[in-house]
Amino acid sequence: MQQISSNFPSLSRFPSKSNQTQLKSLISLIKSATKATQLHQIHAYLIRSSLFQESSISIPFLQRISLPPIQNSNYSLQIFSQISRPNVTHYNTIIRAYSISIHPERGFYVYRDMIRQCIRRNPQSSSFVMKCCIKGRLVFGGVQVHTRILRDGHCSDTFLLTTLMDFYSCNGDYDNACKVFDEMSVRDTVAWNVLVSCYIRNGRTRDALDVFNRMQSGENICYPDDVTCLFVLQACSNLCALEFGERVHEYIRDHGYHRALNLCNSLVAMYSKCGQLDKAYEVFQEIHHKDVVSWTAMISGFASNGLGKKAINVFEEMERNGVLPDEQTFTALLSGCSHSGLLEEGKLIFDRMQREFGVTPNIHHYGCMVDLMGRVGLVEDAFNLIISMSCKPDATIWRTLLGACKVNGCMKLGEQVIEHLIELKAQEAGDYILLLNIYSSAGNWEKVIELRKMMKDKGIHTTPSASTIEIKGEIHEFRVDDSSHYRISEVYEMLDEIENQLKIGGYVAQITCEKEARLSYHSEKLAMAFGVLATPPGTKIRVAKDLRICVDCHNFAKMLSGVYNRELVIRDRTRFHHFREGRCSCDDFW
Ligand code: ZN
Ligand code: ZN
Repeated sequence: MQQISSNFPSLSRFPSKSNQTQLKSLISLIKSATKATQLHQIHAYLIRSSLFQESSISIPFLQRISLPPIQNSNYSLQIFSQISRPNVTHYNTIIRAYSISIHPERGFYVYRDMIRQCIRRNPQSSSFVMKCCIKGRLVFGGVQVHTRILRDGHCSDTFLLTTLMDFYSCNGDYDNACKVFDEMSVRDTVAWNVLVSCYIRNGRTRDALDVFNRMQSGENICYPDDVTCLFVLQACSNLCALEFGERVHEYIRDHGYHRALNLCNSLVAMYSKCGQLDKAYEVFQEIHHKDVVSWTAMISGFASNGLGKKAINVFEEMERNGVLPDEQTFTALLSGCSHSGLLEEGKLIFDRMQREFGVTPNIHHYGCMVDLMGRVGLVEDAFNLIISMSCKPDATIWRTLLGACKVNGCMKLGEQVIEHLIELKAQEAGDYILLLNIYSSAGNWEKVIELRKMMKDKGIHTTPSASTIEIKGEIHEFRVDDSSHYRISEVYEMLDEIENQLKIGGYVAQITCEKEARLSYHSEKLAMAFGVLATPPGTKIRVAKDLRICVDCHNFAKMLSGVYNRELVIRDRTRFHHFREGRCSCDDFW
């Protein structure tokens, strides 16, 4: 304390030229203060000397207290109110401080006050207040600020426009985000990254891949950086776009990003999700300092590809390496057990997770256990586990049990589960379809008719699902009843031909009472037919589907892999199916 006080320069009220050096040392004193107590002393001195009204002093002081490491928004507002004629920088400092505080909405009020006081805004003011709107989810406020930006003529500031894009993207207003992007005269990598994240957030994964190409072509080449690569890899994973993912991998290597841990981890995830486990494992082994995310990505890769035992092996190796598993690691591990039907192993892990690692089971862990028990026929046990859960069962877990009821033909329990779903107001068309399947496989046609009528009365329709397939780096999407694909008529012809070939091989379309006229046109069938059509014989076909694959399509794929001698990988909502020589890696268990 003493030390600081003695450092204060002795200044007269109105500093003369000779006082300039002393003023400078006061500023550097403010800038170097790291503790609130030091600033309190300086504050007292400033009031005594009336230096507070000097903006060359009050600005650094305000910045010092409102930004990290001190970051005291109450104190800064108090100081701000003591400044008799605050200028744009004062205002900006306060707005910026609120944008990183727990009260971002207050930044918006300060901005409004600024307008009221007729203080000229600069692009920084708008950028900081936009950040407040993003953080505080002020949708209406953000749109108001946008109008102001247009009026203030700040439409050429790339940084500001990027923040504006981010605002629209965060609020799911994808159209406006793209519009801002399109109107930007100069685009830097950050702007492109916001665009790609916006695409991913809004489920426009194919467009996200496109960004990678667009950045590197045209007049203003803007090279993708590590952040772009992260987003694009995520898009590749979602779409099962292996070839594209490989290109990104190459790019990462060429640009020296291959040491970045987060990129390596997402490469492991990408290769796993594209069913390319050997590549995933190769990247995984090359990582020098594997963290919990790396290990979990690899475990999850083996798990979702139906290699539960290998997933457990990796976990054991992880333990030997002294890396502590987290919640996600156990989710991956337990899902591996459930996909492979490893009941004893799963139970042991579930137990060790709580006892040894102190991880309280969450809804996902329970979900895996319910799935596992359901798979091995312990449907009642699975039901009891749900009832005994420490957290409230959600729709997903009930749905998992419903799936198990279907596989095991448990009609009574299936009805009970539907009741629970209705209670949660979460019943979906798919749930009723499952129940329909349960009734029809039990031959209870009365119930079938009753349920069908109820669905019709309530206007419950099944939503069309989508399947994607990547051919030569391009993603093709198919939906039931959607004929927008440019080769759709050829696809239908090919599908007919395949069906005829498979029938010779003994394929019988699954006839259930809910069979619709276009059962043969499920989106994954269209994608498979397109795969056969558009690739040379013997090429592996990779399809990604957003819902669970149905029994009929599963049979179809099995037969196709044998009759056409093609390897097929279908990733559905929950797992991978590797079809080869008429068999599937899941052993018809999904
Ligand atoms: Zn199907
Ligand atoms: Zn399968």
